[in-house]
Amino acid sequence: MKITVFGSGYVGLVTGACLADVGNQVVCMDIDAEKIAKLQQGGIPIFEPGLDAMVRENQAADRLRFTTDAQEAVEHGVFQFIAVGTPPDEDGSADLRYVLAVAESIAEHMTDYRVVIDKSTVPVGTADKVRAKIGEVLAKRGEEIEFDVVSNPEFLKEGAALNDFMRPDRIIIGVDNPRTAELLRALYAPFNRSHERIITMDVRSAELTKYAANAMLATKISFMNELANLAEYLGADIEQVRQGIGSDSRIGYSFIYPGCGYGGSCFPKDVKALERTAREQGYHAELLNAVENVNNRQKNRLFEKIADYYQNKLEGKVFALWGLAFKPDTDDMREAPSRVVIESLCGAGAAVQAYDPEALAEARRIYGGNPRLKLCASPHEALENADALVIVTEWKEFRSPDFDALSRSLRDKVIFDGRNMYEPRFVRRSGLDYHAIGRP
Ligand code: NAD
Repeated sequence: MKITVFGSGYVGLVTGACLADVGNQVVCMDIDAEKIAKLQQGGIPIFEPGLDAMVRENQAADRLRFTTDAQEAVEHGVFQFIAVGTPPDEDGSADLRYVLAVAESIAEHMTDYRVVIDKSTVPVGTADKVRAKIGEVLAKRGEEIEFDVVSNPEFLKEGAALNDFMRPDRIIIGVDNPRTAELLRALYAPFNRSHERIITMDVRSAELTKYAANAMLATKISFMNELANLAEYLGADIEQVRQGIGSDSRIGYSFIYPGCGYGGSCFPKDVKALERTAREQGYHAELLNAVENVNNRQKNRLFEKIADYYQNKLEGKVFALWGLAFKPDTDDMREAPSRVVIESLCGAGAAVQAYDPEALAEARRIYGGNPRLKLCASPHEALENADALVIVTEWKEFRSPDFDALSRSLRDKVIFDGRNMYEPRFVRRSGLDYHAIGRP
């Protein structure tokens, strides 16, 4: 099949590569000329495990091409995926300008039937706006060309994106006619072999399903963070509580880890956007508001603990910081809790020596020139002459450090752990002070 994907970011690039990998002819289009040039030369603009090899193999097999030329892109695929960003607007609602710009490009260049598939996370009603935009441009052109608009939200997780795309839990297809449902079913057949994964529904429900999923996951995290804070007041251990409730199959163990807040390009913006959608409808989404507020507060918890420990005298202190990405196995730092910690520490006059296995380049892009932030090539370099260690991302390589060596190297012999990675008693045996989230 011939497929076009607009947007070559985390979602678009994975979508394009995986669709090419099962034998389709894919053209990926992006307006970012630098990104496209890099991809054309065999480079990858983001870190996602396995993606570079998959892109290269499919490029070599002539199944995957990259372009900045919208006309070429629209001419190529019967299926036109929209996978561009939908960042928060000033008021937190989703900014649809990139999505509608793609709709406009498609309408300007299409000469026969196209299926426009929205993979970006967009508020309910966006498919109608895309349809209206295409209709408007076609009318201006004096053309009557048939097209369909489908909502097909993406559920991949950064860090496990290839597996999530190749073996998805579900494929949501929001359509308004059976013919388009059949076309999408054929397109996704290679990913639907072992058992039925396709769930077909109406367009609005599909659009809402994506927000509902992210809001539910964010709610689980904020709920646990709320209880972790309460556990601190009560002298209980949230990690024991977590195990205690996770054993109930109605609750389950996944996604109930307390910590220093959720970040990333999806949960914060999607919870906000859904809350704004509710507000537009005159409905006060109390729970969503609370989820967002609890998370904003939680992102400050680590800094508060550090400031308390040092009685607000942070001037001149040096902090080793492990983990910059918003979660392990990605280089993405959008809305990462590490940013709140770094900015608060630097703002209070401290210096930060940060290490991350994948996000150093991204940190350099964001903070290059900040004299209080040193980016380090190894966890050990970050510890050199540091007073304390702060852990923000639970990368695997941080799971089992040499606590005796840490105790010798940290001047104040103290660890602030925003991800509850260690057993407090074990850490303290090395003479270290250990502050985690919701633990005595
Ligand atoms: P991203 O910022 O990594 O990539 C977006 C890309 O779109 C950029 O490369 C940008 O240059 C390009 N773009 C902008 N306007 C364009 C245009 N008119 N034509 C072609 N390209 C254009 O974003 P992302 O993380 O891939 O997210 C894309 C969408 O998918 C968002 O709506 C997001 O909420 C959703 N989503 C993201 C994830 C994730 O984990 N990142 C998961 C599921 C869904």
